[in-house]
Amino acid sequence: MSGRLLYGSGVSPGIAIGPAVVLQLEFPTVPHRVVPPDAVEREVERLYDAIGAVRQTLERLRVRASERVGTEEAKIFDAQLLMLEDREFLGQVERLIRDNQLAAERAFEFKALEVRALWANSANTQLRDRVADLSGVQLRVLNFLLERRDDEVLHAHDRPAIIVTREVTPGLTIQFEREHVAGFVSEEGTRTAHAAILARSLGIPCVMGLPHALERITAGRELVIDGTRGTVIVSPTPEDVRAAHAFDARRHKLLADLETIGREPAVTLDGARIPLRGNLDLPEELEPLVRHGAEGVGLLRTEFMIVGRASLPSESEQLDYFRRVARQFPEEPITVRSYDVGGDKFPAAFRIGPEPNPFLGWRALRVCLDRPQVFLTQLRALLRARLDGDVRLMLPLVIEVGEVTRTQELIAEARDALRRDGLRAADHLPVGVMVETPAAVTVADQLADHAAFLSVGTNDLTQYTLALDRGNARLAARFSGFHPAVLRLLRDVAAVGTARGTPVSVCGEMASEPFGIFLLLGLGYRELSVAPTALPLVRWLVRHLRTTDAEAAAEAALTATSAAEALRHLQDRLAALVDLDLVAAGWLPGNRSAASLEEHRGSG
Ligand code: PEP
Ligand code: MG
Repeated sequence: MSGRLLYGSGVSPGIAIGPAVVLQLEFPTVPHRVVPPDAVEREVERLYDAIGAVRQTLERLRVRASERVGTEEAKIFDAQLLMLEDREFLGQVERLIRDNQLAAERAFEFKALEVRALWANSANTQLRDRVADLSGVQLRVLNFLLERRDDEVLHAHDRPAIIVTREVTPGLTIQFEREHVAGFVSEEGTRTAHAAILARSLGIPCVMGLPHALERITAGRELVIDGTRGTVIVSPTPEDVRAAHAFDARRHKLLADLETIGREPAVTLDGARIPLRGNLDLPEELEPLVRHGAEGVGLLRTEFMIVGRASLPSESEQLDYFRRVARQFPEEPITVRSYDVGGDKFPAAFRIGPEPNPFLGWRALRVCLDRPQVFLTQLRALLRARLDGDVRLMLPLVIEVGEVTRTQELIAEARDALRRDGLRAADHLPVGVMVETPAAVTVADQLADHAAFLSVGTNDLTQYTLALDRGNARLAARFSGFHPAVLRLLRDVAAVGTARGTPVSVCGEMASEPFGIFLLLGLGYRELSVAPTALPLVRWLVRHLRTTDAEAAAEAALTATSAAEALRHLQDRLAALVDLDLVAAGWLPGNRSAASLEEHRGSG
C-alpha cells in the first residue's frame, strides 16, 4: 500500500525525504492595552526600538543570504527592510499610539492587518506575493514587543527535517543549515513568492499552496516531498521512497544533460534550426531569459506596466524599458505586444466598466484602437526604441485586416508627430499579428498579406475555438490545445505561412509543452517563444527530435477525434524517441506541461 498523497504546487524542484517539523508561525495574540498619557512617549520609543532590533536581524539574514546564495538574491530582504523604513506606515502606527494611547504592539498590529487586507485581496499577484514578506516583518516586530522568543526554531532531529508551515517567509528559508532542513511545505504561497525564489537558489525542494497542510500533516510523520511535481507523500512505503529516489536520479541525469547542452542552438537531429525566443512578462524575467540563451523576445507582455497602477506609463518609461530589453538582445527581435487588457485584466487606468462577457468584450487591440491617445504613446515609444534594436509590434486578438491597417496608420501618425517634436524615430516598425481567434485563422491569408509575421496564441485560440473559459477550473479537464478543432486550425495557419512566405511562430503555452513542441514541429512551425524557465528543456527536446518523426506524429494526431486520442498518438511516438520519464522528471514546476506529463505517467 502507498502512503497518503497530497497535492500542492511545486515551486522549487527536487526530492526531499525526512520527518515533518510543524512550525505554527502563528501571530501572537496581542492584548488590547491602553497606556496612561504619561506613558505614551515610552510606547513610541518601544516601537522604534523594536523596529531597530528587527532591522538588525534582517540585515544579518541578508548578509547570510549573500554568503550562501549571492548578492542578487540577498536583495530579497530589501523588501522587508523597506517596510521597516516606510515612514508613512510607521508614522501612522505612531499616530495611533499618540491619538489613542495604544500600546506599541497593538498599534503596530492594527496597521499591519490593514495593509495585509489590502495586499491579500489585490488583483496584483506581485502584491499578493509580498504578503509573506509582511508576515515575516509583523511576526518579528510583535515577538520583540511581546518578548516572545523567536518561534522559528527547529527542534533537533538527528537528520534533516521537512518544515511544514502556513507560510514560508524569506527569513525562514535562509535561516537554517542544509544539515537541518531538507525541504519546505506550506499552505500559502506561489512560485513567485520571495521564499520560493530563495529556496530555488538554495536548491531546497519546496511545495507551496498545499491546502490545510497543518491539519493534514502531523509532526514527526515521515514525508517524501517532490518540489518538481508539487506532491507530498505522508508516511511513505519503502516502494514510495524507492520511486522517489529513482525519479530524483532521472532529474539529475536530465540536469546534467542540460548542463552539457548549455546554450547550444536548438537544432533537430535532421538539421532544422528552431529559433527559441522568450516570453517576457515581468522585468525580473529578463535576467533568466538572457541566462538561458533566449534568442530575443517572442512575446513581451506590456500589461505589467499598467496592472495595479492608477495611471498609464509615460512614453519615456516605456521607451526605457523597451531599450533595456533591446540592449540585452542586440542581434535578435524584441516582439512587443500592445496592451492586452480586458478579459481577466482590468487595470484602473483604462476604466473598463463591468461587462456581461468580458472575454468577448471591449478588450486588447479593440481598447487600443478606441483610445488612440493611449496607443499613440506606446507606438511613439516603440518607434524610438527601434533605433536601438530589432523592436517590433505585435497585435493581440485580431479578427480582421482593418485592425492591422488602422494600426499602421497610427504608426505613421506617431512617426510624423515625433519628427515634428524634433525626435528621432525609426522609418519602419514591423507589425505582426497574433492568431488567437478562429476568425484570424479563417482570414490568415489576408492577414499574412498585411503583417510582417504571425504568432499563434494557443491559449486564447483554444479558449475561443472551444468556447471554454481558459481560467475556469471546472472546465480545466476539457480545455486542451490538442482538441481536433484546434489541431486543424494550427495546421491551417502553418500552411498559410508556408504558402505566403510569412514567418509563423507560436508563443502560447503549447510551445512550452513536450507534446506541444513535438506536434508544432510536425505541423511545420519553425520558431517558438517560451517561458524563461522552459527554455533549457525545450532546447533539449528539440535536439532529440527529427522533423520527419514529428511530421508523422502530427499527421497521426490530426486523425484523432478527441484531444486524449491525439495526445496518445503523440505520446506513443515521442516515447519511441526520448525517455518520457526523463522528460517528466525535468519539466519545471509551474509549467502546464507538467499536467500532460502527469497524464502520461498515470497511463504509463
Ligand atoms: C495566448 O493567448 O496564447 C497568448 C500567448 O497570450 P496571453 O496568454 O497573454 O493571452
Ligand atoms: Mg492571448
